[in-house]
Amino acid sequence: MLVVEDEATLAGVVRDYLVQAGFQVRIAADGFSALDLAASWQPDLVLLDRMLPGLDGVEVCRRLRRTMSVPVIMVTALGTEDDRILGLETGADDYVTKPFSPRELVLRVKSVLRRSIKEFAPEPPVETAGFLLDPAARTVLHHGEPLALTLREFDLLAFLLRRPNQVFSREELIKTVWGWDFGDLSTVTVHVRRLREKIEADPTAPQLLKTVWGVGYRLDLPETGTLPEEDSHGGR
Ligand code: CA
Repeated sequence: MLVVEDEATLAGVVRDYLVQAGFQVRIAADGFSALDLAASWQPDLVLLDRMLPGLDGVEVCRRLRRTMSVPVIMVTALGTEDDRILGLETGADDYVTKPFSPRELVLRVKSVLRRSIKEFAPEPPVETAGFLLDPAARTVLHHGEPLALTLREFDLLAFLLRRPNQVFSREELIKTVWGWDFGDLSTVTVHVRRLREKIEADPTAPQLLKTVWGVGYRLDLPETGTLPEEDSHGGR
């Protein structure tokens, strides 16, 4: 696991806790060395401080995302909503807010890793309504075009594709997709928005991933269920 943190004392404390929890840890103290180390060492998770000298955490996350699908947990200093959402917008999978308890940090790390490892269990691909999602390869095609999804975006889409035309509240989604018993529900909102930008023809007027006002979200897949009549004469 790669810990990117410029405050040496904090980086050391975090490393000690993570090592104690059984992880291999390396530290990068600035953005550029983080990118170098991520590329050469290929960590299974990056814990990324938002406030770094030179290249800040948001930019590091953007650049990581161009070449790697490694899960990223953003560490936000101020804990303002804007900061958290900015972190998630750039492709972070989760965030923790300073000051965090070491226990909370280890829980978050384990939760993210559990999600990314769980997908290695062979689950059958889903093919429906123009989507072809392959959990083993962690790839999604939408009308034949590959979608570049982050870990959680992938999990969210996989969950909804398996349960089309059902409404889920943000609380239900954060519990089942994120595996959190607690957490900020705006995380779900942000991921839904990001997913819409990738799957909707017009993300401002979603036709697939719909908001059910006051309830939650629903993935509408009109082609599932009964066959439309024009297809009933056979052939596809
Ligand atoms: Ca910092």
